[in-house]
Amino acid sequence: MEFAWTHDQRAYRERVRDALDALLPADWDTHYAPQGYGSADQIAFSRTFCPQLAERGLLVRHWPEKWGGESADPWEQFILAEEMKWRGEPRGPQYMNVNWLGPTLMRYGTPQQQADHLGRIARGEVIWCQGYSEPGAGTDLAALQTRAQKVDGGYVVNGQKIWTSYAHEADFCFLLARTGVERKAISIFLVPMDSTGIEVKPFPGLVSDGHLNEIFFTDVFVPDRARVGEEGKAWDIITYALSFERVGIPRYHVGKKLLDRAVAQLTVEGRGDDPIIKARAGRIHAKFEAARLLTYVVVDERARQAPPSVNGNISRITASEACTDLTHFLMDYLPDILTGGDAILREFHRGNIAATIAAGTYELQLNLIARGALDLPKG
Ligand SMILES: Cc1cc2nc3c(=O)[nH]c(=O)nc-3n(C[C@H](O)[C@H](O)[C@H](O)COP(=O)(O)OP(=O)(O)OC[C@H]3O[C@@H](n4cnc5c(N)ncnc54)[C@H](O)[C@@H]3O)c2cc1C
Repeated sequence: MEFAWTHDQRAYRERVRDALDALLPADWDTHYAPQGYGSADQIAFSRTFCPQLAERGLLVRHWPEKWGGESADPWEQFILAEEMKWRGEPRGPQYMNVNWLGPTLMRYGTPQQQADHLGRIARGEVIWCQGYSEPGAGTDLAALQTRAQKVDGGYVVNGQKIWTSYAHEADFCFLLARTGVERKAISIFLVPMDSTGIEVKPFPGLVSDGHLNEIFFTDVFVPDRARVGEEGKAWDIITYALSFERVGIPRYHVGKKLLDRAVAQLTVEGRGDDPIIKARAGRIHAKFEAARLLTYVVVDERARQAPPSVNGNISRITASEACTDLTHFLMDYLPDILTGGDAILREFHRGNIAATIAAGTYELQLNLIARGALDLPKG
């Protein structure tokens, strides 16, 4: 396979870079980026940055005109994502809105839900969180116990979520809750985070402070109109959203730059000739390149409007493996490289541990590949 960007795509990348240079404040690299995109400061920043990006036609360019976009192809969406990730993701949590929450509502939302939410997302005004995982339901998501009990005009929600990124600053939650006793009788609700009965408790983690939260729901009333799709039929919707999430963050792009920096440092220190270092660095480079091209295979599928395939899982594990190998490489040879250096790379390094966990663990991706690509039996 040969891959090269077209003239227009290269020009688009320049346009994105110019916008970032113009819109990011002078203290972006020293003040905001080090805090990570789950921090309160970066999330607050995203509320001013994303509307400006939207004004320049760069926030939802890949959306249909009807919803405020320009029907740009998924290649442009990824060029934008690569450049944003490289600068520390100044869109904050709004990368989720534009890449999969909005598109999921376009496909499965009611006209009222689309009218209520898509415009706000396209204008860059709103922060969402995703309430899926629970203490007893991560990989086995169908085991979730948060319950939405049917009442007159809506549902009453009780239960607990965990690991919910951005919940402490979110305006809405894309919530999964059980609406029946059968294992997969689960529904999705669009829930305002200021609803009575919601309590958010941040907890510390390796990713940026404030990123991770528990959410407690106590008798939270959610109207019927907030349910997405049919009652108890959330599974297709969630699979659709996750297929975008798993190939949503171009880790290969920053990872490769971090590797280049490590190799440059080792060369300066006279260690670049060490055959073991060369072999390990070469293998990581190859994995990041493989991850990049496998991601582009998925982008190509999207551009052709093919249904989500197992290639998304394959690309995901390749990127996570490259990130894990890079983390080990840095810990072995340059444990100090990140202490005083580039904040964006440091933040990337800190969050790499989550690359094999969030959006479905490494092992879950392998199970999906075993079933989807190799036809091996479940269980
Ligand atoms: C940084 C970060 C951000 C996150 N953000 C969110 C968020 O915004 N919203 C949200 O809902 N969740 C979020 N999560 C949660 C994430 O989706 C879960 O951690 C993940 O699905 C794994 O679930 P678990 O932690 O319960 O682990 P478990 O499911 O208990 O898994 C533990 C280990 O067992 C393995 N395992 C489990 N079942 C199998 C199996 N059948 N076959 C082989 N191996 C298996 C897993 O691979 C894993 O290694 C986030 C997690 C992280 C780290």
